[in-house]
Amino acid sequence: MRAAAVIVAAGRGTRAGAQELPKQYQPINGKPMFRHSIDAFAQLEAISAIQVVIHPDHRDTYLTQTRGLNAPLLPPVSGGAERQSSVLAGLEALESHEPERVLIHDAARPFVNGEIIQRVLDGLDMRRASIAAMPLTDTLKRAGATQSISATVERAGLWRAQTPQGFHYPSILAAHRKARGAGRVDFTDDAAIAEWAGMDVGLVMGSENNRKMTTAEDIRAAQSPETGWPDIRTGSGFDVHRFTSGDHVMLCGVRVPHDFGLDGHSDADAPLHALTDALLGCIGSGDIGVHFPPSDARWKGANSAIFLTEAVRLVRERGGRITNVDVTLLCERPRIGPHRDAMRARLADILGIGIDRTSVKATTTERLGFTGRSEGLAAMATATVLLPPAPSMMVDR
Ligand code: MG
Repeated sequence: MRAAAVIVAAGRGTRAGAQELPKQYQPINGKPMFRHSIDAFAQLEAISAIQVVIHPDHRDTYLTQTRGLNAPLLPPVSGGAERQSSVLAGLEALESHEPERVLIHDAARPFVNGEIIQRVLDGLDMRRASIAAMPLTDTLKRAGATQSISATVERAGLWRAQTPQGFHYPSILAAHRKARGAGRVDFTDDAAIAEWAGMDVGLVMGSENNRKMTTAEDIRAAQSPETGWPDIRTGSGFDVHRFTSGDHVMLCGVRVPHDFGLDGHSDADAPLHALTDALLGCIGSGDIGVHFPPSDARWKGANSAIFLTEAVRLVRERGGRITNVDVTLLCERPRIGPHRDAMRARLADILGIGIDRTSVKATTTERLGFTGRSEGLAAMATATVLLPPAPSMMVDR
């Protein structure tokens, strides 16, 4: 059994917005809309040829977007003024291939899948015509121009026709030609032509997912579930400063009284430095030394909140949102507990996020190592940033 598919992509797509590209060429989840249908049909072994019908103006776009595709694609044919004539052009282009069966599908239904296609094909074992459709679940109202309801329409036995619509090839070709010969161009789907030609048309279950993309909003809404690889970034940072003489240390932007100070070019706020590096790490933007070279006299004694604020700005510039930060201090003293809430509040303030998205923890190193000997203090930080979905990470470009 040789089966072919005709994918109708000849519309100008103006209803989906005034973009330069008609809707069938716009990306859905990183792939042009019409290619979703090609891929769905190509995965079925029974489909030996795919004929796409395009508008002649979009030939270059079509050829670019199908280059190198692993599918039994025939050269595209140009459609006509109405959908009906476009389908006929696609059917006639298949004549030399002599398929036994043909499935006609609208490129505006990119979420068709192998199961639906197979059900339609199977339906052709018993009938000359078989289409995907969904039973109505909403209650139907009839209303006049004033939008007052005049009747509730009995919905039992009512179905919404989808595509693909499958036919025995010679029968639908003859029916289409007969319709054209009769000057009939008002059929809204191919099943209607088959019915008009006296064929018995069967229904098989389609899918709610197999919906039609009509408006720009439909296309936008279609992006969310599958595109949707959220671009979640995690960065880490680590910093050390040596204790020196003094009477306080700056930790997370909070002045903490201590028997020593911390030595550094800036105010030596190690946890803020670690956190700055963590944020820069989320966006692959180097480290604190790249942005604020220690050789630069401007940062002498600087308040380290300046560094963190700049990292926040860089994240925002990328459209990013900081979802949480987590800081760990490694030292024997000073004790962090009494200052923890003030530190979290200060971090929330600098980062512009809720205090519940900040965390400050502390540990000793059991008197081991340089922190254990109180020669210095170390800080580790991680940050999580949510960036807008990036084309570079979309699947199947
Ligand atoms: Mg430092």
